[in-house]
Parts: sequence; C-alpha cells; structure tokens
Amino acid sequence: MKFTSFPRLASLRPPPILLPARRFLALRPASPHVARQTIFSAPSYDIPLTQKAVTFDAIRGPITIQKAWPVTQPEELLPGQVLVRVVYTGVCHTDLHAWLGDWPLKNKLPLVGGHEGSGYVAAIGKQTNTDLKIGDAVGIKWLADSCLHCEECRKGYESSCAEAKNSGFSVDGSFQQWAVSYANHLTPLPDGFPLEEAAPILCAGVTVYKALKTAALATGEVVVVPGAGGGLGHLAVQYATAMGYRVIAIDSGEDKRALLASYGVEDFIDYTQGDVVKAVQELTGGHGAHASIVVASGAQAYEQALQYLRPHGALIAVGMPPDGDIKASVFWTVVKSHRIIGSYVGNRQDAIEALEIAAAGKVHTTFTIEDLDNLPSVFERMRAATLNGRVVLDCQ
Ligand code: NAD
Ligand code: ZN
Repeated sequence: MKFTSFPRLASLRPPPILLPARRFLALRPASPHVARQTIFSAPSYDIPLTQKAVTFDAIRGPITIQKAWPVTQPEELLPGQVLVRVVYTGVCHTDLHAWLGDWPLKNKLPLVGGHEGSGYVAAIGKQTNTDLKIGDAVGIKWLADSCLHCEECRKGYESSCAEAKNSGFSVDGSFQQWAVSYANHLTPLPDGFPLEEAAPILCAGVTVYKALKTAALATGEVVVVPGAGGGLGHLAVQYATAMGYRVIAIDSGEDKRALLASYGVEDFIDYTQGDVVKAVQELTGGHGAHASIVVASGAQAYEQALQYLRPHGALIAVGMPPDGDIKASVFWTVVKSHRIIGSYVGNRQDAIEALEIAAAGKVHTTFTIEDLDNLPSVFERMRAATLNGRVVLDCQ
C-alpha cells in the first residue's frame, strides 16, 4: 500500500541540539511464529449460533474458555452495529488491568475482553449508514463507538466522548470469534496487510503513534521510552525512529535489550540496574531528554521521567499503573516549563495513519501467535513482565 500519511514533522521549530549520530538500522526482527490463516475475505459467512470466547464473571475471578458462547445473529444487530469474524487479537496490558480491577472504572461483567482485533465484516445491522461491505478487513480498537456529535468528537478527541464505548471493557471485545462492533469506529485495514501484524497496531501502535504526535518534537530530538520492551514500547521506539527522533529505551533484561537493538536502538537502560536518571543525563550530554513517552506498567517510571527531562521537555503519560500518581514539583514544573500531558489511545484518523506507516514497512510488530485458550497464561507472563513485544491470539 502506498505510504501517504507520514506525520508532519515540526519543521518550523528552532533547530534541535544535535546529538552524536546514531545508527538507525531498518532490521526486521524475526518473529518466532507461523501464521496459519484459514479464514479469509468472503462475500458471505456461515454464522454459527455459538462460538469460542474467553470470559470472566468477576474481577480477579476465574477466566473461562467458553466453547458455546452465543453469537449475535445478523437480525439481532442494531443500526450501526457490525458483526466481525475475528481472526487475530493482540493482548494488551489494559486487558490485564481490567481483569485485575486496577482502575477506578467499572467494566461490564461478565466480560469478553480484548481490543486489538483484526478480522472481516460478517454482517451489518439494518439501516446502518456505512461504506463497509461484507468481507472487508477491519480492526477493532479500544474505542468501539462514540457519538461523533459532541465537542470532543468534533475536535477529534473521540476517546474523550462522554458516550464512548470501549471494546473489552464496557462492551464485549475481541477475545472471541464473532464480535459485535460499530461501523463508525471500525478501522479499515490497508490492502494486503497481514491480519496478525495489524492486530497490535490497533491499540499499541495507534496509542504510541498518537503520544509521539502529542509530544510535538523536532527531527533529531531525544525521546525516552520507559517500558520499551513491551507491547506499546517496542512499537513506540520504531515510530519514534521513523519520525526522525533519537531514542533512548528503558526496560529490563537482556532479551529486551536484544529486541530493541534489533530495531537499531543502541541506547538501552536497564531500570533494575542502577540510576536511570543519571544514565539518561549521561547519554544526553547532561542536557536531558526532549520527551519521555511513559508506557511502563510500573509507576516509578513517571518520577524518573520528570527528573531527566530538559527544560520545555514533555512527559507524555500513557502507561496506567494501578494507584499511580505523577508527583511533580510546582516550582520545577514552572521553572523548567515542563509539559505533562495525558495521551489516551487515538482517534479514527490516528488509527489509519498508524496502520499505513506499519503497512509501508516502517514499523514491524514483534509477536508470537498463541491459541485463544492461552489467555490466562499470557496474563501470567505479562504480570511477570517476561513478554517481549506482543502476544497475538489466534481466534480461528
Ligand atoms: P506490557 O506489559 O507489554 O509492557 C510494559 C513494559 O513496561 C514491560 O516490558 C515492563 O518490563 C516495563 N516496565 C515495568 N516497569 C517499568 C519501569 N519502572 N521502567 C521501565 N519499564 C518498566 O504492557 P503494554 O501492553 O505495553 O501496556 C503498557 C501500559 O500502557 C499499561 O499500563 C496499559 O494499560 C497502558 N496503555 C495505555 C493506553 C493509553 O491510551 N494511554 C493504551 C494502551 C495501553
Ligand atoms: Zn490496549
């Protein structure tokens, strides 16, 4: 697919302080998986009455692999709703937070989680005004639906809509084979882009791409990514590189160091070994970083970020650890003119751009494919922070 939407770089900003040249290799790490796709675009689908789905009834309760979970039938779809035959779904740390009840928000119960689904349109509710057709490849993202009429929606802040529905949280998501989603917010996938690679872009990719746009950096400026070895982080370092920034990655362990090195990221700080703030200062010649895209699942990363940002630096809050607070000194926030900005997924256009960049080969998801039944085991490994990149579940 033609690469049409490369983000506008802040070319009118003052020239950045250029740091020593870095090698940005366009190596593609080998993903240890073989995608065996058996479901494809078709003019019609045989829609069963029941399906496989992964559900839980209570926060921290048993996670059940349902073999006969009901499938919403085409005639039951409401106007605006679409039935998607899910083929692959990524597993995001947000799904784990939801099951753990980490946040001051209540999700629906019982819940089918998941919000990085890729698949095909199988049925469209009557009286739905849409260009989508049966067989179109589409993505289910966190923002399942929004009103599109309020001030937030009109300004492109769709995720902040008071009417927003969230996949795998307030409505059932992609940890199932046949998911109900919404025509207005399904994302069309680029032609020929593999569905297993598309899935993690639908949350992890769009979120970090939007966070980087929000940081509004200039070419050559330094962006730190705490949590760089995880699902969001491994994509953040690649989008940042594609956008012309210099990346310093923070995470733990040799496997994550090696993963990030495979993207050409040479500056890796292991947060479990020594002083993170000092290490960033050293790598930036004592000046500090222009931005930190905090995608870490641990709260400590926020405190460190405020200490290693240079004046006018931006802390972009993305990771949402339980009970996490950003403790910023008012004095230093003012005197250093720091920007502290929350960034919450992205809008429909951000999702399309993030996918186009990936489909153009500028960003590659590193993932392993596992069976949908493995979700409980994926959650365990995610909690232990032993996953590199993303796990994609096969929903076929
Ligand atoms: P992940 O588990 O795949 O990755 C998290 C990474 O953070 C791991 O590699 C872990 O080793 C690392 N980490 C933990 N503590 C750290 C620290 N102190 N310093 C540096 N690294 C540290 O998780 P993910 O799916 O990438 O999600 C990350 C976070 O982003 C979660 O809290 C998730 O809910 C949140 N999230 C936010 C948005 C949004 O719109 N703002 C969207 C998606 C996910
Ligand atoms: Zn997510």
